[in-house]
Amino acid sequence: MERTLDTVPVSEWGFFDESIPPIVIAGPCSAESELQMMMTAKGLHDFGIHVFRAGIWKPRTHPGSFEGAGVQGLKWLQKVKREYGMKICTEVASQKHVYECMKYGVDMVWIGARTTANPFLVQEIAEALQDTDIPVLVKNPVNPDLDLWVGALERLNRAGIRKLGVIHRGFSTTQKIPYRNLPGWQIAVELRTRYPEIPFFADPSHMGGSRKYLKELSQRAMDLGLDGLMIESHCDPSCALSDAAQQLVPADLKTLLESLVVRQKQTNDKEYNENIEQLRARIDVIDENLLMSLASRMEVSRKIGEFKKAHNIAIVQAARWEDILSDMIAKGRVYGLPEGFVTAVFNAIHDASVAEQNQILERE
Ligand code: PEP
Ligand code: MN
Repeated sequence: MERTLDTVPVSEWGFFDESIPPIVIAGPCSAESELQMMMTAKGLHDFGIHVFRAGIWKPRTHPGSFEGAGVQGLKWLQKVKREYGMKICTEVASQKHVYECMKYGVDMVWIGARTTANPFLVQEIAEALQDTDIPVLVKNPVNPDLDLWVGALERLNRAGIRKLGVIHRGFSTTQKIPYRNLPGWQIAVELRTRYPEIPFFADPSHMGGSRKYLKELSQRAMDLGLDGLMIESHCDPSCALSDAAQQLVPADLKTLLESLVVRQKQTNDKEYNENIEQLRARIDVIDENLLMSLASRMEVSRKIGEFKKAHNIAIVQAARWEDILSDMIAKGRVYGLPEGFVTAVFNAIHDASVAEQNQILERE
């Protein structure tokens, strides 16, 4: 069931300068010392970053790794706010974290990927935040489960939190990939489509896991029309106590942001608008025809199902399917359609067809 969220637009949060997209949250992975926090904040503030992040309580894979500075770090965050007038934000993973943040004037919090995956904790955090008016950003859960992500937004919204945003940081995977986490952009696109009004950040730092991927991932986020970036920045990444390989010095972050090509979401250009409307109308007609073709195909497939049932024949004829698929791939190539695309489309069609025939077989 599709549920709506009752949210406040990011333009009313008073956090970001939206006139020069993307909107940016930057700061170190972890608050490590007053000097590190102040130097990093200065570097970022100098080129116009207004929203500063730093992890105070760090969820680490192994015990014994640096687990954050705790309350001491909140005092440093407070100093960043006082000296540079920046908005300050950190990750909360429990009710206690929320109460500590409130004591120290934290302006915004985010829920980390490991916490979003746990509805009990999200509920606890939502209740602790109930009487505050601070924005809450929800990172995707570690596993690629869109509903779990949406469920966390719903829990917060039901607790009366209306300044909601999301951060896409990719998903844990056992696949061998160059990045630290699997981008899984299609899940982000699906969420954006469902809730276009919610500010959408990408976190290329945790997605990439290495400085060398930050630019391509940030550009991809812009190409997909996402609103902002949360990026880790450290005054001296080589000494960072967590995520050293993915943090950028502020000057390099400035260069990266300046290099991004941010496409407009809309234009007043009459010629463009007229042409795009015509092209979209053509696509709509083609999509409808595709649907009709799929429906006719399914109709024939049902007849085949009935026929197989009457003659006691097995549904899946693997050899026949392999022949059809390789034939389609060859024909698709002539039409300039990539093999992976043709394979995915026809496998989906075949799977649906087999499922339909199975139902026929199971019917008395
Ligand atoms: C972080 O932002 O520092 C962090 C721990 O991220 P994630 O929850 O995405 O792993
Ligand atoms: Mn980090």
